[in-house]
Amino acid sequence: MRALIITGTVRTQDPDRPVASAVAVAGSRIAAIGDLASVRATVPPGTPVLDFPYVVPGFVDSHVHLLWAGRAATRLALDDATGVDDVLGRIAAHVAAHPGEAWIEADAGFDGPLPDAARLEAVAPGIGLVLDRKGHDALVNETALRRAGIGAGTPDPPGGRIERHPDGTPTGLLVEHPAVALVRAVMPAATVDERARWIRAGQAELLPHGFTTVVDPAVDGTGLAAYEMLGRTGQLRLRVTAMPHGVVAPALAGTGRLRLGPTKIFLDGGGSLGTALLSTPWPGTDGYLGNQTVGYDELAALCAATERGVGIHAVGDAAIDLALDAITASGRGARSHLIHAYLGPTPAAMARARQLGVAVSAHPALQWEFGAGLAQRLGAERAARANPLRDWLDAGVTVGGGSDGPGPPLSALHGMWQARTRMVRGRDEPLGAGQAITAAEAFALFTTGAAAIAGFGDGRLRAGGPADLAGLDVDPLAADPAALLDGRVLATVLDGNLEFTL
Ligand SMILES: [Zn+2]
Repeated sequence: MRALIITGTVRTQDPDRPVASAVAVAGSRIAAIGDLASVRATVPPGTPVLDFPYVVPGFVDSHVHLLWAGRAATRLALDDATGVDDVLGRIAAHVAAHPGEAWIEADAGFDGPLPDAARLEAVAPGIGLVLDRKGHDALVNETALRRAGIGAGTPDPPGGRIERHPDGTPTGLLVEHPAVALVRAVMPAATVDERARWIRAGQAELLPHGFTTVVDPAVDGTGLAAYEMLGRTGQLRLRVTAMPHGVVAPALAGTGRLRLGPTKIFLDGGGSLGTALLSTPWPGTDGYLGNQTVGYDELAALCAATERGVGIHAVGDAAIDLALDAITASGRGARSHLIHAYLGPTPAAMARARQLGVAVSAHPALQWEFGAGLAQRLGAERAARANPLRDWLDAGVTVGGGSDGPGPPLSALHGMWQARTRMVRGRDEPLGAGQAITAAEAFALFTTGAAAIAGFGDGRLRAGGPADLAGLDVDPLAADPAALLDGRVLATVLDGNLEFTL
């Protein structure tokens, strides 16, 4: 049996032995944790020793679109575009460099004003152009609208919206999945093999950040088939909890590295998209409360339909309350979680979540990316209360960290830094310093907290448990938050295998 000894300051997250100096690995399991002399006795003489300054449980991301992370390399990247001219210029350059394409897709979660279908058509004439807005909305050109048969007379689909000019013609913005589906229906869909390639590429991006377990929070039937194929053929290099979206009672042969997670439900839009479901209208609109993507009856039926529980995307306070109502009715709180839950959850909602055993998947990297934009949309005071990690933890709710990548930084160290400092991109001051959490709490976010949502183990290092760990050059518990930003992951070990080394 393959054996390995790993030394360093070991931050185990095991309350019975929070610190150790050596871990012995035998096969895929941890044989012993303690000091070098004591763990040596549990593995054969001559077992190689790897030394890192710090050793931690393999990080867990409770919400990262692994499959989309790998897909991003196949798409035009517009997430960081700085304005309409930049967007149009980059599309024109892509069109010139890729003649003959029938469709062009882009990741386009950029902030700020949007070009309309006519301006997009001018830079991509006769090509179906689909700009994906954070996996929620799509911005499309006239060719895409025409191919999908969307015109002034097309009614809004239930749960979605076709944004229109005053004369009724579509602007090109399709709000939420039911509207985007009208265009997706006429586009070629990626095959199982293509999706498997995306997953392999996504794994290669996550392993250098020390992750050994991730939750992929919206996987369709073809995506599940791709995960299953990779699991069956030994090509999963991370543990993955795949949450089925839009798939009825999927069959999935789980393995030690793959499990079928809660059903994913998109209940509302996004804060940065201005479509989260709020109890008071969005500023600057004539009473717009946001988008409710599924009706309450359907939501309750989805919650009741699965024993695996649900993960409900609920950003706005009104969506959070609806989600908790439906989970209460289903009686499956302990297996369910809220995703994002960051715009104005009330103390009453927090108390209910705790009572129900509902966890929250929260995303510091997302707040870092969109905090400044949110302050512009909602005012600094409301934006400062967004993503209230301090309040969730004080209410006794289990909080799992995540990135919601691709787009926001995938790094757990970056996530811990943001959760401790509340710094956001483009601002010199923290946004909502009162919601900052401690080093220990931030470390728990990406170990024990996220593990509670992922459902693989408990995010701690102990004898007998899986040998999933990471070597770091920074101490997540004792270092200043700023040191986390410069910190590096030196190695990632899954099931005793060195999957990444720097
Ligand atoms: Zn997401």
